[in-house]
Amino acid sequence: SPRGVKRTAEALDQDVVNKIAAGEIIVAPMHALKEMLENSVDAGSTAIEVLVKDGGLKLLQITDNGHGIEKDDLPILCERFTTSKLKDFEDLMSIGTYGFRGEALASISHIAHLRVTTRTATSSCAWQAHYADGKLSPAKPGQSADPKPCAGRLGTQITVEDLFYNIPNRRRAFRSPSEEYAKILDVITRYAVHRQGVAFSVKKHGESGAGFSVAAAATKIDRIKQAYGGGVAKELMQFETEDAKWGFKASGYATNANYSVKRTTLLLFINNRSVESSAVKKAIEQTYQMFLPKGGHPFVYLCLDIEPSRVDVNVHPTKREVHFLNEDEIIDLVCINIRENLAKVDTSRTFKTQT
Ligand code: ADP
Ligand code: MG
Repeated sequence: SPRGVKRTAEALDQDVVNKIAAGEIIVAPMHALKEMLENSVDAGSTAIEVLVKDGGLKLLQITDNGHGIEKDDLPILCERFTTSKLKDFEDLMSIGTYGFRGEALASISHIAHLRVTTRTATSSCAWQAHYADGKLSPAKPGQSADPKPCAGRLGTQITVEDLFYNIPNRRRAFRSPSEEYAKILDVITRYAVHRQGVAFSVKKHGESGAGFSVAAAATKIDRIKQAYGGGVAKELMQFETEDAKWGFKASGYATNANYSVKRTTLLLFINNRSVESSAVKKAIEQTYQMFLPKGGHPFVYLCLDIEPSRVDVNVHPTKREVHFLNEDEIIDLVCINIRENLAKVDTSRTFKTQT
């Protein structure tokens, strides 16, 4: 009947819509990784391990020792807008955790094969579940889709296989797995610097040693050294400033005038999210211009804590671009503070060489 035809057409549309929406949130393996990393941090993990095959396109696995997921929550884990972190719209204003919209795992389930193994402190065993298109799904055709009991440690392991398997055009667009791996490593090293108290390790599938690792006890400077090298770590100055009028605190580490490379490395965290801001980057580069040789650039790790009511975190599906009130004023004050620190180090150096 005409009616039956129409219903089929609607079902197809919804499937396409879900895939498109998912592809906007998860553009590359690094975006899936970032969401999962933030979930692990949100869960209070102190150790996070990542395993990668073919730049994350074949396999992306993250194992944490966080609080785990209740068995009863597994059936709805991958439904869109299902989150344990947000109850009212007002909560958006004061949200302290990374995730808040419950879209990440749902999205991944629409464009990859997703498996979750998890155990909470009160459960006597771990539970494993597979997902497809937002719902529990059997591990193999014909089996039950219900979560299955299994052995496992406290925490959560999320395995993402064959990312974009059902979006062949997107899949084909990834020319180089090593490029995707580099982007994954970039996300992890940023969080490894920022999250003191958390151990991180990343491994390529089939390799025995870790590509990058840092112990839970490592200091901030150790973390920067492990991730960005001794050349950066030995030329760091710590900075800190705040202003009640604009409702912000800024702190971090930036290289002094002895350090100069071709490209700026900016690790920017706004309210503990790794974000990008071309405005902040430009202002920092201008600040360093008078201290570095022509074409020279710094390494800067900047944490901005801004009153949540002044930050708009809900601006872009990928949540990379964060805007806040009085950007210009805040950026100015941060750069003045960095400049003062640069000038101090510069004077002591000049003084040393003169005596
Ligand atoms: P959001 O982070 O926005 O809540 P996600 O889709 O990223 O949405 O995750 C959905 C829910 O799954 C989270 O709210 C959380 O309850 C649970 N979850 C996901 N990953 C983990 C994890 N590693 N440990 C514990 N709970 C998790
Ligand atoms: Mg999340």
